[in-house]
Amino acid sequence: APQDPQDVANPARPSDAVGTVRNIDPDAAATVVRDGAQGVRWASPKERAAALSRAADLYEAEAGTLFALAAREAGKTPLDAVGEVREAVDFLRYYAAEAERLGAEPRGVVVAISPWNFPLAIFTGQIAAALAAGNAVVAKPAEQTPLIAAFATGLLHQAGVPVAALQLCPGGGTVGAALVAEPSLAGVAFTGSTATAQRIDRQLAQTAPQARLVAETGGLNAMVVDSTALPEQAVRDIVVSAFQSAGQRCSALRILYIQEDVKDRILDMLTGAMDTLVIGDPWRRETDVGPVIDADAKAKIEAHVRAAAEDGRLLKRVGCDDGLFVPPTLIAVRGIEDLHEEIFGPVLHVATYKAEDIEAVVDAINATGYGLTFGLHTRIDDRVDQVVRRIRVGNIYVNRNQIGAIVGSQPFGGEGRSGTGPKAGGPHTVSAWAHCDRHTMATDTGRAATPEGVQEAIDRLSIDDHPLATEDLPGPTGESNRLSIHPRGIALCLGPTVDRANAQAAKARQSGNGAVIIAPGATPNGDGMVAAVDGVLDPAALSRLQGFAAVYIEAAPGPVRKALAARNGPIVPVLSAGEAAVIERHLCIDTAAAGGNARLLATTED
Ligand code: NAD
Repeated sequence: APQDPQDVANPARPSDAVGTVRNIDPDAAATVVRDGAQGVRWASPKERAAALSRAADLYEAEAGTLFALAAREAGKTPLDAVGEVREAVDFLRYYAAEAERLGAEPRGVVVAISPWNFPLAIFTGQIAAALAAGNAVVAKPAEQTPLIAAFATGLLHQAGVPVAALQLCPGGGTVGAALVAEPSLAGVAFTGSTATAQRIDRQLAQTAPQARLVAETGGLNAMVVDSTALPEQAVRDIVVSAFQSAGQRCSALRILYIQEDVKDRILDMLTGAMDTLVIGDPWRRETDVGPVIDADAKAKIEAHVRAAAEDGRLLKRVGCDDGLFVPPTLIAVRGIEDLHEEIFGPVLHVATYKAEDIEAVVDAINATGYGLTFGLHTRIDDRVDQVVRRIRVGNIYVNRNQIGAIVGSQPFGGEGRSGTGPKAGGPHTVSAWAHCDRHTMATDTGRAATPEGVQEAIDRLSIDDHPLATEDLPGPTGESNRLSIHPRGIALCLGPTVDRANAQAAKARQSGNGAVIIAPGATPNGDGMVAAVDGVLDPAALSRLQGFAAVYIEAAPGPVRKALAARNGPIVPVLSAGEAAVIERHLCIDTAAAGGNARLLATTED
């Protein structure tokens, strides 16, 4: 039941009518999810791989049309449009290979909801990962960018993905909300804002507690530049990280910390570099910075800049502010604690720090609860170690820019309020959409475990954040790409029987987590990382307990999810004994960038 056609706008040129879209009626969207069951297990793993690979070929053959759509509908510059198509093709080929490697069984119908800022790459990546495991996918693109999504869906169908296995539902937030409210769905792949992810999590807790949510959300991304950094390299990478794509990347640099000794030099070069940026129509090859996506986005950014200007904190603005263009802007702040939300545009905040305070800077970044990207420019290896060990973000970049992750080489995604994991374009993405057994069983009866008793047990355990495993991933010469797996923290193991709770604790411990076993008849096993509370916990207590990072339960996850979704802050995963409670961090170092003898510099520190 399509609605009346609506115009799709070109953010750079109001006179350019890119096309029209007929959005789906929200009620009809729910039916599409219900009917999606027919498309599940749509082919053998080998056939799925072949279809996804054919789709990659078709995307490449149609690159010209895709570039034009990315430029006209999403305001992408030529550089960004090329990156967009390349990333989409990489996702298709990588997940095709994963389909064959894993031979996974599907979970069911997966709803994929994507943002406008990567209208082809993220749209395609979400779909391809779920399809690779044999799921049926109902895809909802962002309301601003339905045309490139429709064209890509046509190519996927042409490549052999059955229409029953991939359905497109164009529309806005109300269509998205209708899709995720359908009780029969098996999972939601979401990329967008942290607030929307939380809304979806609360909906799933109510109506589809069995559904897996993989959410990739926003961040308050920082870069630290110390006094040993090469200023030319640092400034080049700051400009790209903050202003490419008009700052409309989730990974984009939002706050730059400059060691105070080099502040004047770096700021001088940075403002000079900003003067050379070309702001304008992305259809022109010389353009560096295109428009922001729509009037709402511009109004929010401009209000933020106005407030800073009124406080006398505006350091620099360059270029035109006609139409939907926003001039690249520098704003002075004391530190990341002055940033209250993600400003999704070409606005960079700048703070200084004293050399001896570098760990306090990292702690302040961690304290925001976001953890998406982080950049560091330094020529001291020890400082890289010191900072990398302390920072809690998904993707860390050293001596290079902090945007533009490459599929298979730099799996991408955040932790805490920035995302649930697993990372996109990595070795754990497709298995997130594979079938996973959940035991069904009756809850053992027993006396109530008090929330205070459980909190004490949590507080007694210490957390070990050593990586469990690291893997060097392929990449170009001169760049090191290392993926590491870390424990999440403390897992609550709710059984519901003591046998299941013990199995869950064993699984949690296997990946380095602490575990609190809460079940009738639970007894401690003597390991310092496991505590036990004998009794049954009222799930409602989970909205108030502190200091845990995952919950294991087999039967009846609904009440547990509801209590967890009522919390603010990171989405806490609800797992069954087959699933590992881990987070992935990626470290990318430009090993060719340093220039100069870092060892000599390092010895002055000893
Ligand atoms: P958004 O959250 O407003 O919208 C994202 C998608 O969710 C859209 O398709 C939208 O229609 C849909 N949606 C809105 N309300 C919904 C609801 N109640 N239920 C279901 N779906 C709903 O985000 P946006 O403005 O389109 O995208 C920008 C945000 O995305 C930024 O915060 C950015 O950091 C984030 N982002 C994150 C990543 C990542 O990988 N971590 C990548 C790109 C963008």
